[in-house]
Amino acid sequence: MSSLELVNIKKRYGDLDILKGIDISVEAGEFLVLVGPSGCGKSTLLNIIAGLDTATGGDVRIGGRSVRDDHPSERDIAMVFQSYALYPNMSVAQNISFGMEMRKVPKEERDLAIQEVAKLLQIQHLLARRPGQLSGGQRQRVGIARIIYHDREVLVLDEATSALDNATELLVSDAVKTLGGHKTLIIIAHRLSTIEHCDRIYMMERGRVVKSGTYEEVVLGTSPGIPINAESRAS
Ligand code: ADP
Ligand code: MG
Repeated sequence: MSSLELVNIKKRYGDLDILKGIDISVEAGEFLVLVGPSGCGKSTLLNIIAGLDTATGGDVRIGGRSVRDDHPSERDIAMVFQSYALYPNMSVAQNISFGMEMRKVPKEERDLAIQEVAKLLQIQHLLARRPGQLSGGQRQRVGIARIIYHDREVLVLDEATSALDNATELLVSDAVKTLGGHKTLIIIAHRLSTIEHCDRIYMMERGRVVKSGTYEEVVLGTSPGIPINAESRAS
């Protein structure tokens, strides 16, 4: 069963058609990348998936069930930028551990998970610090470390919103792939470094999916001058 299904998603603002019928199907555990020029509707689509925006038409299904009328908190989705609000009075380790504690994950398991994710995201030396003692980039990694152990099945990351630097972006995709296991990851990306690691790419243009497939199919089979190449070289 598909982990996430978008069926003929449409979005209209006034008389502007922003999304013109998007069909995407993601299997559980897949790492999917959305690419396309600025303004083509990527963020709008992610917000509709997460429930922060409503579609004008179509359906969003998770595990085969329509979540179109569900509040964001009721959907099995974690959006990365939401995790940036770290608890200021807790250490980095406690911040990472908190969700697991709430779910009654045993302490030994939590400690192991913290060490594991800290190593992958290269934040071992920061575990005892409080969020106020971290740089923006370090806070971002902690936020990401936290959602990897979120109990939600689908992780959604809008790169533009989160402004991940190159190195962090690579670490994140590696960490989610290594530790996320069954989790489905959808990321809006610009850099080939991220795109190379994904299972599938959906390329959007003016509110439509114009190409989808593996990295080899979509990127290597693309004619020069397609925006993702230009953006990647620039960054
Ligand atoms: P992307 O993330 O691909 O850069 P967006 O999804 O942010 O694109 O935006 C897609 C299009 O929808 C843009 O043309 C943008 O101007 C338009 N848009 C986004 N939000 C609104 C809104 N609230 N009202 C009107 N137009 C909007
Ligand atoms: Mg955007």
